Amino acid sequence: MAEVCYRNASRIYPGTPPVHAVDGLDLDIADGEFLVLVGPSGSGKSTALRMLAGLEDVDAGSVRIGDRDVTELPPKDRDIAMVFQNYALYPHMTVAQNMGFALKLSRKPRDEVRRRVEEAAGLLDLVPYLDRLPKALSGGQRQRVAMGRAIVREPSVFLMDEPLSNLDAKLRVETRANIAALQQRLGTTTVYVTHDQVEAMTMGDRVAVLKDGLLQQCDSPRRLYDRPGNAFVAGFIGSPAMNLFTATLTADGARFGDAPIPLTREVRTRAGELGLTEVLVGVRPENLAPAGADEPGIELAVQLVEELGADAYVYGRPPGDQDGKPVVMRTDGHTDVRTGGTVRAVVRDPGAVHAFDPGTGDRLDGAPRS
Ligand code: ADP
Ligand code: MG
Repeated sequence: MAEVCYRNASRIYPGTPPVHAVDGLDLDIADGEFLVLVGPSGSGKSTALRMLAGLEDVDAGSVRIGDRDVTELPPKDRDIAMVFQNYALYPHMTVAQNMGFALKLSRKPRDEVRRRVEEAAGLLDLVPYLDRLPKALSGGQRQRVAMGRAIVREPSVFLMDEPLSNLDAKLRVETRANIAALQQRLGTTTVYVTHDQVEAMTMGDRVAVLKDGLLQQCDSPRRLYDRPGNAFVAGFIGSPAMNLFTATLTADGARFGDAPIPLTREVRTRAGELGLTEVLVGVRPENLAPAGADEPGIELAVQLVEELGADAYVYGRPPGDQDGKPVVMRTDGHTDVRTGGTVRAVVRDPGAVHAFDPGTGDRLDGAPRS
């Protein structure tokens, strides 16, 4: 077990222009932590993981595992085990042979290999399949063999790059819970890459959000959801996504069309200090509600009502806004709002309004922890 530390670590692919795949990454991962790297495709997640694995050069800065600077060490000397997206099992080897192969290569005694393979198979419910070939396994079982191969090595750190992306949706949900539980049992520091923010939020002790090679925020799932540090994180974390729109500052808050948007004193003070006339406002769907009879609200032309049983999502466009994203409001499942109709949405609690600098995208109240 070990802590992991990226210090101002960069990977720049040569070319015109050069690609800053990972740009000055500073990240400390605690011993035993489950840390998820999440971001859109191309944001540098795999590159960051491969820098830690030693499969990618570190062009500037350093990477540490435990008390060792591993920046220049070859992968085999880093005491890590990696699980890839395509499990790359050896087709001619049984499950037991696949799992034990790395140990056999490192000349571990046969008894010890057998013991570790059986132990891992027990953890992963693979005992009945130890003598099968990979082709006789389901997708989920193959995925577990790939996990088993990493576990038997008893590394200081597990590295996983989208290990669930070959599974169907239902199995993915089951397997992510199993991996999280297994990691907790083993207590092995884990760095896990995914582009799926739901996976990130449900699995990680902390989640590091990347965009264009730059770390945006690293926080607990709860903090990321409640206090996104910038507009990108605000829009990326949460499903359906947070509503983001530009509102005009007024004497006591802001205004979007005819709708007043309440802002906390802290936000108003900060906006004043920056000399802003507009703020980028973020409101989650669950913080919008249908307006009362004479209450001013955001007038929405309803495009779609998604009934989910217990609740419903109403998607509508504000007037004059033909190209922007629709505003999404969560209502209870028995809403009488209909597609083609109109509804007014209000936000009443200033604490439920996230406000960002429209120029930089930075959150206006309080610096994010990172
Ligand atoms: P992610 O895993 O988040 O989808 P990657 O780490 O694979 O992103 O890639 C980050 C950026 O680096 C992307 O712009 C990608 O095109 C670029 N990139 C990745 N690998 C190479 C490479 N071998 N040569 C040049 N550019 C690369
Ligand atoms: Mg990737």
